[in-house]
Amino acid sequence: MNLKKLFSLFTILTVSVVLFGQLPKQEVNKGVLKAGFSMADITPSIPVKLYGYASRKTYSEGVHDPLTARAVVFESNGKKILFVSTDIGSYPRDVFPVFQRAIMDRYGLKESEIFLSTIHSHSSPVLSLNPQTGDPNNIQYTKSFQDKLLALVGGAIKNMKPVNIGAGKGSSPVGANRREMMPDGSITLGRNPNGITDKEVLVLKISDTDGKPVGALYDYATHSTSLGPSNMLISGDVLGLSAQFTEKILGKDVVTPVFAGASGNIDPWYRVLPSFNNEPGWVPEPVLLGTLLGEEVVHVFRKIKDIDNPGEIVSDFEVLECPAKITAENKALPDTPATVPVNITVARIGNDIAFVAFSVEMLTEIGMEIKAGSPFRNTFVITHCNGASGYLVPEELYKEGGYEVSTTRFQIGSADMVVKKTLRMLYDL
Ligand SMILES: [Zn+2]
Repeated sequence: MNLKKLFSLFTILTVSVVLFGQLPKQEVNKGVLKAGFSMADITPSIPVKLYGYASRKTYSEGVHDPLTARAVVFESNGKKILFVSTDIGSYPRDVFPVFQRAIMDRYGLKESEIFLSTIHSHSSPVLSLNPQTGDPNNIQYTKSFQDKLLALVGGAIKNMKPVNIGAGKGSSPVGANRREMMPDGSITLGRNPNGITDKEVLVLKISDTDGKPVGALYDYATHSTSLGPSNMLISGDVLGLSAQFTEKILGKDVVTPVFAGASGNIDPWYRVLPSFNNEPGWVPEPVLLGTLLGEEVVHVFRKIKDIDNPGEIVSDFEVLECPAKITAENKALPDTPATVPVNITVARIGNDIAFVAFSVEMLTEIGMEIKAGSPFRNTFVITHCNGASGYLVPEELYKEGGYEVSTTRFQIGSADMVVKKTLRMLYDL
């Protein structure tokens, strides 16, 4: 380009900026989307107390399948979002802020750029950093977990390269509504095949610019509780086993972070079994269900052809304070908080793909309402993410009762507040 042409281009740009106050929007936002993946083995090397069932008091007695942490970082125009999927139960209220702060400090990320989630496996270590309440082995595990988490994020950032992405949807019967009605009309934890479930398997395929797949994020609504309190073996349960399957089939170069959708009232079809059944010829149910889900992920993944580089990333984070449930016990306590916080994190990549994440165990009806109201064609609903505030129950179930209703910390009406707030945040992106 000669000097004269360069000068006239400069003049046009200057006039545009003066007339319109800024460069045209598509020029400002047009960035190359990059992504980087990493994985880490987070299987405990010492016996630990296992998450999720209060009746289980002793240490783990071995490992059935290894636990994994998977991370992906997306970047466009210098703006990053980080997703971490970990094969554990949940991030307790005192542990999450420590991990979040460590990631923010080390990598310069904001709250709205971090999606730190778990798959809610009930055959994984309890995380704790509290010497008063935590088991020493679990505290030791949690500290090493934090080191691995930080290295994992650094690895994903280092691996970033230009990518194309595309999304696809499938369906799986692995999850079943667990609110079973007894003859007397009460609701118990069981299997309710006629109850509502979100069967959608949502997959985001990521390939490098030569078309070689490098990763797949996927989202499905089920608890990872095919194993019950008698099981003492470490396992990722259904969701963890599904991710191991997809990586085995798609190849070691493809990392597949898995996210638990709105699954507060959804258990695997076979639930809370005493152990892995090792009878000759029997496929243990956690493996069977993990494979069934994993195969659907692979089916969807292989059908995704239409991929491009959408560029722009936008994200947001808010803490929504919802009214706390008033119970006979907490009514008497003067220092009972009036509200319970819900951490809501939202993001979009381009105009087709959105993520909404919650620090609650959201019942499936709520996630389906958010998906239906979302302005985006593909909305990943991620739960057990960025903290743990317990069950969030739709208003109509309060009168039915049952486990989720009796244990929720939220007052009736909170779910509606979360849905409205989330949709507002999605529209504002
Ligand atoms: Zn749960």
